Formats: sequence, structure tokens, C-alpha cells
Amino acid sequence: MIGFFPLIIFTAAASVSMSNTFIKIRRDNLSSHAIVIAGTVGRSNYLTDESIRLLIDTDLDEKSRENSYRILVFDNMSACVSDTSKLETGKTLVIPEVINALSGIDTQNLQTFGNIMYAASSVKNDMSQITGAVLLVSSVDEVFTPIADIEQRLIYFAAIILVLTTGFVYFVSGQYITPLRSVMSAVIKMSQGHLNIRTKIKGRDEFAEMGRAFNVMAEELELVEKTREEFVSNVSHELKTPLSSIKVLTESILLQIDVPPETYMEFLLDINSEIDRMTNIINDLLSLVKLDRREVTLDFKPVDIGYMLMEICKRLFPIAHRKNIHIAFEEMKKVYADADEMKLSSAISNIVDNAVKYTPEGGVVKVTADADNQNLFITITDTGVGISEDEQQKIFGRFYRVDKTRDRQTGGTGLGLAITHATVLLHNGSIRVVSRENEGSTFIVTLPLHQKGENANA
Ligand code: ADP
Repeated sequence: MIGFFPLIIFTAAASVSMSNTFIKIRRDNLSSHAIVIAGTVGRSNYLTDESIRLLIDTDLDEKSRENSYRILVFDNMSACVSDTSKLETGKTLVIPEVINALSGIDTQNLQTFGNIMYAASSVKNDMSQITGAVLLVSSVDEVFTPIADIEQRLIYFAAIILVLTTGFVYFVSGQYITPLRSVMSAVIKMSQGHLNIRTKIKGRDEFAEMGRAFNVMAEELELVEKTREEFVSNVSHELKTPLSSIKVLTESILLQIDVPPETYMEFLLDINSEIDRMTNIINDLLSLVKLDRREVTLDFKPVDIGYMLMEICKRLFPIAHRKNIHIAFEEMKKVYADADEMKLSSAISNIVDNAVKYTPEGGVVKVTADADNQNLFITITDTGVGISEDEQQKIFGRFYRVDKTRDRQTGGTGLGLAITHATVLLHNGSIRVVSRENEGSTFIVTLPLHQKGENANA
């Protein structure tokens, strides 16, 4: 349509302008002939002298044949004195162009009906008095026939263009629509829950790019869904274990007769510790959910990191002491971070707590604070059991424990490092671990330094 309509409009405009030009040329030509003939008639006493008229009529006949127009000569009463086609001679005719010419106005007119052109010019005698009029009548068919021919050709041409462009547009849009349809049907399938759907990728154009982006998105969604399923299954499993223990403990007391009070006490203590365990898991889960939803509002203030680490070490000192583990703190530089002290402190506590937990008796846990121009580094090094290379990234996952049975005995929920990771991210920081099995681990937390100019002594 974009190609076809302009072509039709152009065709129409071109033919109108062409016919106007041709008509104008024809009109000027006819008008100048009328003037010349009127001149000849006026100068020669044609209207008054019969013998001259007969002589000139022969000339007029010849001119009429040569130029394919009819010549009519009128006297000043609008009576036709001579007609080269001999039809009107002797008749008085009321022709507007002749009447105009008799009143001194040379007139040309095109009668569109029948394509006839009239050109009238007044005949004047030597005294410049109007004594009659000459009317030339000509068909302008020869003007319109080639125009109609050109018009027809242009219409054929437009029709061919229409067919070709339709074919071309159909082909090209097919090239675009097919990949779009394929992505669209994949999107629809996906929205119905089929997350394993992928689209076929052909070529290297934008559609291939879109298909590729879609496939990456589908993969990520599938991964999120898988993680979610794993998470739900882990939560159920983690909660089921203490519940089963409680069930076993309760039933074994119920089934016994005459249970001594000490046994009751012992069983109740066990039940109580299982309940504590469940409470820990649920509390950790709630913290994680809040961190995930970014519901926690962080109360950012400049925090003296050295002081914070010192407090953490002091808190853990009694537990470390029980295992004969030495906790050392070293402050390489006095550093401040913009942080929520409570949240950051509990996140770092998790790491130091783990260091003590996973280090055998007699080991060393070392905590340091350092900084470069932009960031501060908190390093927690232990001489513990260490973490194998392929486990190192996984330990920040939810419910991930390297050694399922041993780690459960240590009392952890498997959520500690996940909470720490989420908290550090909320502080625009990062966390990584370097470790060797049976040699020890180093956790490095990087945080942006507090920008000077704000109140750093808060
Ligand atoms: P948990 O509550 O079980 O300690 P975490 O999320 O804190 O869970 O830690 C995940 C797992 O990472 C732990 O179960 C343990 O296997 C491993 N881990 C964490 N810190 C250390 C460490 N300092 N040394 C060795 N292993 C560690």
C-alpha cells in the first residue's frame, strides 16, 4: 500500500499536469491561428466582397484540412458567412465565444464533453471596427489519446509494482514473523508452566539475539524454580528431623510404665533441645526471607569496624576457651564503614562462630581489619578442618553443609553463611573464602569504606 498509493496519486497528478500542458499548447496554437485568420479576413473585405470571399474560402479550406480544424466566419450579427464544413453557412448561431469576440474579447474554450476546443477572434476593418468574428473548432482527442495511453501504462505499472511489493513484503515479513512466532509460542508455553521450553535460534540477527536472551531467561527461571523446590524440600527435611526425634522421645516415655523421674527429666531436656533447634531454623529462615524481600530497613551509620570485631571476639571468647582455641584480633588500620552495626555484627559473628566451630581443640582463629583506598577488608582465618575447592562456593547456599551429620551435631542450621552473604550484599560488599582441607580457611569480607566528611565518630 505504501508503494501503491503514492504511485496512483503520482499517475493521476502527472496525467492532469500533462493534459493541462498539452491543452494550453493547443489553446495557444488555436488562438494564434484564429487571430491570423481574423486578420486576413478583416484586411481583405471578405465580409463585403463576394468574389474575394470565394477566393479566400479556398485558402481557408486548405488551412482547415492542413491543421485539422473547422473554420467558421461570422458577420457582426452572428450569422455564419462561411463554414469550411459547409454545415452552418447562412445560419445565425448563438455561440458564447463568437458573441465575446463580436464584443471585442478573443475567447478560447474547451468543451470537455466531446473534447472540442473553440477559439474565437474578432474581425476588424481598417478603422478597427469589429465587423465579424472567426471561430476555429478543433477536436482535442489527439491530446487525450496519448495521455490516456500513458495513464493506462502507469496503471499497469502500478499493478505490477503492487503484486511485486506484496510478494516481497509477504516474504520479508515472513522472515521476521516466523522467529517472532516461535519466541511467542515459547513465552506462552512458559507462562503455562513449561519452564523447560527453549526456542530454536537461526542466524545472527536481532531475532536470534532475542531468542538467545529468551533462552538465557528461561534457563535462569528454571534454575530459580529448581532452587525454590530444593529449598522447600530442604526446609521440610530440616524441620522433619527434630520433629521425628521429638516423636520418638515422647513415644518411648509413653510406652514405658513406671518411668523414673530422672528419665523424664533426661527425655524432656532432649525434647527441649530439639525444640530449640527448630526455633533456630525458623528464626534463621524468617531473617533470610526478610533479607530476600529487602524488607529489612538498614540503619546505616559510620561503624568503627575494629571496635565491632573486638566485641565479637570477646563474646566468642568463652566458647573458644572451652575448646582451647586461641582467638587473636589485629587492627592493621583504623577503619569505618557505613553499616547497620547490629546486622553486620551478627553477619560477621556467624563467620567467627563457624571458625571456632570447625576448628579442632588447640587451634587458632585470627580476625583482622585492614583497608586500601576504597575498601576495607575483614579477614577471619582459622586452622580448622578446611573446605574443599568445589564446596567453597556452595557453602553460601541455603541449608548447605559440607558434612551433613557432623555439621548437624555442631548445632548449625546450614543457613548462617546464607544470611551472612545476603547481609554483606545489602551493605554493597562481597564475601569470598580461601581454604585448604585439613589446613584451615580464610573468609574475606570486603566493604566500601566510610566516606570522610560524615560523622565518623558516631
Ligand atoms: P552451619 O550453621 O551449619 O554452620 P553455615 O551456613 O554457617 O551453616 O555454614 C555452611 C557450611 O559451611 C557448614 O556446615 C560447614 O560445613 C562449612 N563451613 C563454614 N565455615 C567453615 C569453616 N570456618 N571451616 C570449615 N567449614 C566451614
